[in-house]
Amino acid sequence: MKEIINVLKSIVKEKPDNIAVRHTDEILSYQELDDLSDRLAYLIKESQQPIVLYGHMSPYMIVGMIGAIKAGCGYVPIDTSVPDDRTAMIIEKATPEYILDVSQGSLDFQHGKVITIEDIQNTEVSEPIESRMSPEDVVYTIFTSGSTGEPKGVQIQYSSLIEFAEWMDSLNQLGEGQEWLNQAPFSFDLSVMAIYPCLFTGGTLNLVDKDMIKKPKLLNDMLQQTPINVWVSTPSFIEMCLLLPTLEEKQYPSLKQFFFCGEILPHRTAKALTERFPSAVIYNTYGPTEATVAVTSVQITPEILEQYNPLPVGQVRPGTTLSTTDEGELVISGNSVSAGYLKNEEKTKEVFNLKGDTRTYHSGDKAKFEDQQWFIQGRIDFQIKMNGYRMELEEIETILRQSEHVKEAIVVPIYKNGKVTQLIGAVVPSETVEDNAELSHAIKTDLKSSLPEYMIPRKFVWMDQLPLTSNGKIDRKKIAEELN
Ligand code: AMP
Repeated sequence: MKEIINVLKSIVKEKPDNIAVRHTDEILSYQELDDLSDRLAYLIKESQQPIVLYGHMSPYMIVGMIGAIKAGCGYVPIDTSVPDDRTAMIIEKATPEYILDVSQGSLDFQHGKVITIEDIQNTEVSEPIESRMSPEDVVYTIFTSGSTGEPKGVQIQYSSLIEFAEWMDSLNQLGEGQEWLNQAPFSFDLSVMAIYPCLFTGGTLNLVDKDMIKKPKLLNDMLQQTPINVWVSTPSFIEMCLLLPTLEEKQYPSLKQFFFCGEILPHRTAKALTERFPSAVIYNTYGPTEATVAVTSVQITPEILEQYNPLPVGQVRPGTTLSTTDEGELVISGNSVSAGYLKNEEKTKEVFNLKGDTRTYHSGDKAKFEDQQWFIQGRIDFQIKMNGYRMELEEIETILRQSEHVKEAIVVPIYKNGKVTQLIGAVVPSETVEDNAELSHAIKTDLKSSLPEYMIPRKFVWMDQLPLTSNGKIDRKKIAEELN
C-alpha cells in the first residue's frame, strides 16, 4: 500500500517545481506544498484533536490537509458557505485545538487557537517532519446533513483514503501529471475524488470557486486558461457547463476523462456529453460519504448508453462488498466504511456495524444487482439530493419548526425529469397574518442562520393543518402529489 506523504516526497524529489494546486493566480508547487505543510505540521504536532480547516478554494486548504496528515491529527474541512451557526455546531462537536483560518478572519471562533497563512509562512521548522498518521487513524471528518437538525461527522480512516486513492489510480486511464478539475467545496467528499488521486499521480489540482459556478464567463475564462485533462464533478455541474458552447472536443481537446459522483447521472446528460466528447472516458461512480467517496464505477460507453436507461453505477471496487437486505436496502461492507459518526453513538449504532473484522454501513439507498451491474433505485428514507447536495428533509423540518412563525411544517421536493429541482415548505403558521410575503421572508431569515442556502425552501404554501394518513401520521405522499 502506498502512503500519501511518501508519494508526495518522491514527487517533490523528482519534480519540485511542478504545480500541485492552482486557484486563479494563487499557485503552489509541489516543493512549496511540502514546505508549507511541514511548517503547519510542526506548529500542530502535539495536537490530539483534528484541525479545522476553514476557507473556500484556497491552495492553503490543501496545505492544511497535508499538514494535518503529517502531524497525525487529521482534519475537518468547513467551507465558508456554511452558515455561522452550523459552523459553530461543527466546531463544538470537533473540539479542535487548532483552526486554520484561510478566510482572512471572516469569523470569530469560540474554540481552538487560530492559525493564519502568515503564521505558517513565518514558522521555522527545526527538525525533519515525518508523517505521524497511521492506517487506522481518522484522516478527515466530513459533516453531512442529519435528520435531527444536527450535522453528522463522518470519520474516515487513513487506510480507507489510501485504498480509495489507489482504486482511482487504477481507473485513471491518462496516467501521471494531468491537470485535474475540482468542482466540489472541500466540505463535500466529492472533492476527495479530485484532491488525492491528482496529488497521488503528480498532477495539478485546479480549483473551481463559487464565483465561477455563479458566472459562466469566469468559468469559461478559467477553462480557456487551463487545459484540463480530468474532470471531477457532480452531474448537475456538467449539465450547467454544457451550456458553454466551447465545451466540446474540437475546441477543448485536452479534456479526456470525466468522473461523476454524488447523484444520479441522467442518461440524457451522459449522452449529450458523449456527443460533445466522443473520445473521452466517462465514469459514473456511486457512494456515500460514509464509505469513502465512492465504491462502484462503470465506464459509460456507447453500448452501456444503448443498453440501459437509467444508467447503472457499475461494479464494486476491491476491498468492499455490497449486498441488499430483504427490503432492498444496499449494505456496504469493508475497509471503505467509516469509523462511525463523531461523538454520535446513537446515529452510529443505527446505520453502522463496527464490531468484528468487517465494518458495515446501511446506506439507505435502494439497489438491485442485474447483468453484473449495480443500479440505485431511490431511497428508503427522506434523504434527497438537489444539485449534488445531500440533505435530510427532516433536518430542514426540524429547523423550520423551531421558527416562532411556524406551528407545523413539512418539506416537499419538487421533481422534474426524475431530479429534484426545488423545495417547497408546506407550513401551518403559528399566527394568522395578512401578508404572506412578509411571513415567508421572516421564516427564511430564521432558517438562514442554521441552514446552508441550498437547503432553504424556495417557496412556502400555507395550510390550516397538515393532512394525516389513516394511522395518524402526516400524509407526505398526499402533500407531495398535490404540490408536484
Ligand atoms: P454523499 O454522501 O453526499 O456523497 O451522498 C451519497 C448519496 O448520493 C448516496 O447514498 C446516493 O443516494 C446518492 N448517489 C451518489 N452517487 C450516486 C450515483 N452515481 N447514482 C445515484 N445516486 C447516487
